[in-house]
Amino acid sequence: MFDTLITNGTIIDGSNKKSYKGDIGIIGEKIDTIGLLSNAESKEIINAKDSIVCPGFIDVHSHDDFKILSERRITHNILQGITTMIVGNCGFGISPYGAAKEQMSALYQVDSLKYKWNNFADFFDLIEKNPPSINVGVLIGHHTIRRAILNEINKKIPNSDELNKMIYLVEEGMEAGCLGFSTGLVYEPGRYSNTEEIINLTKPLKKYNGVYVSHMRNEAEKLFHSISETIHIGTKAGTKIQISHLKAVGKENWGKVGKALEIIENHNLNGIDINADQYPYTARSTMLKALYINGTFDESSKYSPMGKSTSNEVLLCSVPGEESLEGKTLEDIQNFYDLPTEETVEKLIDVSDKILVAAFGMKEEDVVEIMQHKLVMIGTDGLDVGSKPHPRAWGTYPRILEEYVIKKQSLKMENAIHKMTEMPAKKFNIKDRGLIKENNFADLVIFNESEIKDNATYINPKNGPSGISFVFVNGKKAVVAGQETLLYNGELIRAS
Ligand SMILES: [Zn+2]
Repeated sequence: MFDTLITNGTIIDGSNKKSYKGDIGIIGEKIDTIGLLSNAESKEIINAKDSIVCPGFIDVHSHDDFKILSERRITHNILQGITTMIVGNCGFGISPYGAAKEQMSALYQVDSLKYKWNNFADFFDLIEKNPPSINVGVLIGHHTIRRAILNEINKKIPNSDELNKMIYLVEEGMEAGCLGFSTGLVYEPGRYSNTEEIINLTKPLKKYNGVYVSHMRNEAEKLFHSISETIHIGTKAGTKIQISHLKAVGKENWGKVGKALEIIENHNLNGIDINADQYPYTARSTMLKALYINGTFDESSKYSPMGKSTSNEVLLCSVPGEESLEGKTLEDIQNFYDLPTEETVEKLIDVSDKILVAAFGMKEEDVVEIMQHKLVMIGTDGLDVGSKPHPRAWGTYPRILEEYVIKKQSLKMENAIHKMTEMPAKKFNIKDRGLIKENNFADLVIFNESEIKDNATYINPKNGPSGISFVFVNGKKAVVAGQETLLYNGELIRAS
């Protein structure tokens, strides 16, 4: 007797192989049997006729670290069909606690937490006692451990005692079950570090088959150089490599993605385990202050590691204290003050240094070329903060299915789902997930191909998709007809 039997579905199993018709019987948290089971007994039967049944999506690039414990529900992710997310990206890590709180406060409010933790092992205990609605894997964040050990935020080279203390924190995280270590080399304080420091901090990963994950130092005119640095770090440390949100930003850099992908592919052919991830939009999203300190609006220079953007290309997502400005462009504010762009930005940063923006700067053809590459998987990089967050927080996965699979036919359905499921599971050593297979965890999405619709826009970003009838997390329904069930059936994913 099954707990749930899903019948008549078109199964896309995540492996990139062709779809097939079949039934799936779930017992407890696992997929028990796959086959033709229409006569089998089950406590509940779901008829998935006209629908695709696929593994739950694995978001390799989440920033909802604190939300796992503060809210436990990750609405913007679960409604998209994400059943596992990896937090701790771009160097923003969750431990040690004090430094994490300070670091993460650049992104969002972190005051309302009822828990504290001493280290990763402690944090993991808390998650296991208070499970979230989604499975969670965790990366160690470079900024956070740097902030915890170094007294000066802009110190360039740690002394050997400091370096050893930082290495110890990485070791503690890996031993506790973290999946890898991330950097964000345009942000404070990670941007002050040199390549050698990062190699030293990445070395402990090798023993655990962890992944070195990097938001690189430069995604603009020095893109190739940054890819080389990332590969150099991973190779020297002997770890797997993941390039976060691969892109070429700023008009002067459009078209560079072909060569970027070629560099990555050539190293992959030489036996280096390297991949990249991507969100499917031409606008990036980040802190206004980060763009400012990286010279995005500095008219005296043609270059910025984060790419140039004009004021009409920047949308204000979240403005703590001046919420009425959310949804306006930087140009709107500039016209109001009648000031040059950079001075307008300075005025805004005086209001709050936590302003988040969406900033256009990528070329659509580049976005498609990256998406189609066989070494690229999907991640949201979502931040559901403020009233007008970048729509990727709510729309990444349905957008790929609707826009790039069905409308533009840039990807085959099986391939798109592979990039969302098995590919990330393999990369991050996530066992028994990412594939529809007997004895795997029953993390599943059931959606209708002709009804799937991304409803998150830049103007109205906080909308879940249509067309997803069920999302299962560990055998239990987490979403029914586009609504969360709030069963909190997520698990902590420890490195295996
Ligand atoms: Zn990033």
